Amino acid sequence: MKVIVIGTGYVGLVTGACLAEVGTEVVCVDVNETKIRNLERGILPIYEPGLEEIVTRNAANGRLSFSTDLAAVIPGAAVAFIAVGTPPGEDGSADLQYVLQVAKEIGQSMTDYLVVVTKSTVPVGTAVKVNREIKQALQHRDTLLDYDVASNPEFLKEGAAVQDFLKPDRIVVGVNSDRSKEVLEQLYRPFLLNGRPIIFMDIASAEMTKYAANAMLATKISFINDIANLCDLVGADVNMVRKGIGSDARIGTSFIYPGIGYGGSCFPKDVKALVKTGKEYGHTLRILEAVEAVNNDQKLVLFDKIMHHYEGELNGVTFGIWGLSFKPGTDDMREAASLVLINALLEAGAVVRVFDPVAMEEAKKTLGDTVVWCEDMYHAVEGVDAVALVTEWNDFRLPDWSRMKGIVVFDGRNIYDLPYLKKKGIVAYGIGTAQPS
Ligand code: NAD
Repeated sequence: MKVIVIGTGYVGLVTGACLAEVGTEVVCVDVNETKIRNLERGILPIYEPGLEEIVTRNAANGRLSFSTDLAAVIPGAAVAFIAVGTPPGEDGSADLQYVLQVAKEIGQSMTDYLVVVTKSTVPVGTAVKVNREIKQALQHRDTLLDYDVASNPEFLKEGAAVQDFLKPDRIVVGVNSDRSKEVLEQLYRPFLLNGRPIIFMDIASAEMTKYAANAMLATKISFINDIANLCDLVGADVNMVRKGIGSDARIGTSFIYPGIGYGGSCFPKDVKALVKTGKEYGHTLRILEAVEAVNNDQKLVLFDKIMHHYEGELNGVTFGIWGLSFKPGTDDMREAASLVLINALLEAGAVVRVFDPVAMEEAKKTLGDTVVWCEDMYHAVEGVDAVALVTEWNDFRLPDWSRMKGIVVFDGRNIYDLPYLKKKGIVAYGIGTAQPS
């Protein structure tokens, strides 16, 4: 089976590479010529563990290729995945211009029956718009080619994207014909051999499932952050509370880790877009409005603790920042909490030294020369007054505290043993731990 994947970002490139890995012939298409030329030379546009290896292997064995020319590669394809970005528009709704542009190009270039699958995260009703674009383009060509649209939202996590794609918890597919269902069932068969489920449903439900999943996860994060902030006030330790509630199977242990707010390219934009969809239908998603508001405040929680510690005067105070990406395992800086903290520190007159194991190049595009770029984690804390742990990369989990004498620790991810630090004479703050230690 030949498959075209349009958009070679985090989702498209992982999808293309993993489909090729199980034997499918895949062409990854992107409008960005530099990305495609680099991919042809084995240079990846993103950091994702394990991705380079499978891209290189499948490019070498000829199953994975790259192109900027959709029309040239579409003949013979059974499936075309749309995996382009759907960034938030000014009003918070998902901007569908790239998805619909691709749908139009597919209509302009397809040569045979094709299943057109939206993998990008798109609001309910987008498949209808995709269908309309394709139909209009075919009418312009005076062609009566048959096709189906389908929705196959992607649930991979950046930092574990390859593993998530190869071993998914489930695959959700929205279809409106038996023919497209059969094609997609065959395509995904290799991933289902170990009993992993493929859940077929109608297209609107599939589109909604992705938003509901991200909204639920964002809700868990804002919930525990809200509880953590109350823990600080009442003198409780959220780490204990988290364990206490997580052991209840109805609640579970995952996604109830407090921190400095969720970021990334998905949760913030998807929560916003779902709230906007609700508004369009006259329905206020009150919980999600609160989830977003809590998260916006949470990105400044560490800064508030810093201001409190330094009694509102940060002029000339020097900070080391450990971690910049929105979470470990990725170079993605979109909506990273580090940016909010760093900008607040800089505005208050502080000096900021930074280190991230992977995201430095990406972060430079936003931060430029406003901060001091350091070679490693200890270089980042040379001569500083305080260190802020922002992204919990493994590298930062067990620092050599003997090299940190006199440095105040602000732990934005609750990874440090604060009582131990207290014993060592280090002043340390966590989130919801009734600090300072
Ligand atoms: P991205 O920004 O990393 O990549 C998008 C790519 O699409 C870019 O390379 C861009 O050049 C390309 N593109 C734009 N217009 C094009 C066109 N007309 N033709 C060909 N290529 C075009 O985006 P991403 O993070 O991979 O996200 C893609 C979609 O998947 C979004 O809707 C996102 O919400 C969703 N999603 C993302 C994740 C994630 O973790 N990043 C997870 C699940 C779902």
